[in-house]
Amino acid sequence: MALLINDDCTACDACRPVCPNEAIARGDPLYTIAPERCTECVGAEDEPQCQLVCPADCIVPDPKRKESREQLLARYNALRG
Ligand code: SF4
Ligand code: SF4
Repeated sequence: MALLINDDCTACDACRPVCPNEAIARGDPLYTIAPERCTECVGAEDEPQCQLVCPADCIVPDPKRKESREQLLARYNALRG
Protein backbone atom coordinates (compact mmCIF):
# COMPACT_ATOMS: atom_id res chain seq x y z
CA MET A 1 0.00 0.00 0.00
CA ALA A 2 1.09 3.55 -0.45
CA LEU A 3 2.35 5.35 2.62
CA LEU A 4 1.11 8.63 4.02
CA ILE A 5 2.60 11.34 6.24
CA ASN A 6 0.64 12.11 9.39
CA ASP A 7 0.33 15.26 11.48
CA ASP A 8 3.55 14.60 13.43
CA CYS A 9 5.60 15.76 10.42
CA THR A 10 8.07 18.52 11.33
CA ALA A 11 8.85 19.42 7.68
CA CYS A 12 12.51 18.53 8.16
CA ASP A 13 12.95 17.51 4.48
CA ALA A 14 14.88 14.30 5.29
CA CYS A 15 12.48 12.09 3.35
CA ARG A 16 12.03 13.96 0.09
CA PRO A 17 15.52 13.43 -1.42
CA VAL A 18 15.66 9.70 -0.61
CA CYS A 19 12.46 8.75 -2.45
CA PRO A 20 13.33 6.86 -5.65
CA ASN A 21 10.00 7.85 -7.23
CA GLU A 22 9.92 11.56 -6.41
CA ALA A 23 6.66 10.88 -4.60
CA ILE A 24 7.24 13.26 -1.69
CA ALA A 25 6.47 16.94 -1.91
CA ARG A 26 6.87 19.90 0.39
CA GLY A 27 3.45 20.75 1.70
CA ASP A 28 2.09 23.63 3.66
CA PRO A 29 2.78 22.96 6.45
CA LEU A 30 3.19 19.17 6.24
CA TYR A 31 4.93 17.10 3.61
CA THR A 32 2.80 14.85 1.43
CA ILE A 33 3.19 11.60 -0.49
CA ALA A 34 1.54 11.27 -3.91
CA PRO A 35 -0.07 7.82 -3.70
CA GLU A 36 0.10 7.32 -7.45
CA ARG A 37 3.90 7.56 -7.21
CA CYS A 38 4.58 5.64 -3.98
CA THR A 39 5.51 1.97 -4.43
CA GLU A 40 6.65 1.46 -0.83
CA CYS A 41 10.02 1.47 -2.59
CA VAL A 42 9.20 -1.87 -4.25
CA GLY A 43 11.33 -2.13 -7.37
CA ALA A 44 14.05 0.14 -6.04
CA GLU A 45 14.88 -0.77 -2.44
CA ASP A 46 14.28 -3.49 0.14
CA GLU A 47 12.29 -1.24 2.46
CA PRO A 48 10.67 2.19 2.43
CA GLN A 49 13.53 4.66 2.45
CA CYS A 50 11.46 7.56 3.74
CA GLN A 51 10.50 5.62 6.88
CA LEU A 52 14.15 4.82 7.52
CA VAL A 53 15.20 8.46 7.62
CA CYS A 54 12.14 10.12 9.19
CA PRO A 55 13.07 11.35 12.67
CA ALA A 56 9.42 11.87 13.63
CA ASP A 57 8.21 8.34 12.72
CA CYS A 58 5.26 9.95 11.02
CA ILE A 59 5.26 7.99 7.74
CA VAL A 60 2.75 5.18 8.01
CA PRO A 61 0.80 2.82 5.74
CA ASP A 62 -2.37 4.29 4.28
CA PRO A 63 -5.10 1.80 5.24
CA LYS A 64 -7.24 2.98 2.32
CA ARG A 65 -4.62 1.87 -0.18
CA LYS A 66 -4.02 -1.83 0.14
CA GLU A 67 -1.95 -2.99 -2.81
CA SER A 68 -0.08 -6.19 -3.58
CA ARG A 69 3.61 -6.35 -4.24
CA GLU A 70 2.78 -7.09 -7.88
CA GLN A 71 0.67 -3.93 -8.14
CA LEU A 72 3.44 -1.87 -6.55
CA LEU A 73 6.05 -3.32 -8.89
CA ALA A 74 3.81 -2.61 -11.90
CA ARG A 75 3.50 0.99 -10.71
CA TYR A 76 7.25 1.27 -10.33
CA ASN A 77 7.80 -0.04 -13.87
CA ALA A 78 5.11 2.30 -15.26
CA LEU A 79 6.81 5.26 -13.60
CA ARG A 80 10.05 4.26 -15.26
CA GLY A 81 8.28 4.17 -18.62
FE1 SF4 B 1 8.97 7.21 -1.82
FE2 SF4 B 1 9.52 4.78 -1.02
FE3 SF4 B 1 8.59 6.53 0.73
FE4 SF4 B 1 6.96 5.60 -1.15
S1 SF4 B 1 7.92 4.39 0.50
S2 SF4 B 1 7.21 7.72 -0.57
S3 SF4 B 1 8.36 5.29 -2.86
S4 SF4 B 1 10.56 6.62 -0.32
FE1 SF4 C 1 8.14 15.13 7.72
FE2 SF4 C 1 9.38 12.85 8.40
FE3 SF4 C 1 9.62 13.81 5.93
FE4 SF4 C 1 10.80 15.06 7.97
S1 SF4 C 1 11.29 13.01 7.21
S2 SF4 C 1 9.63 16.04 6.28
S3 SF4 C 1 9.30 14.74 9.62
S4 SF4 C 1 7.73 13.08 6.89
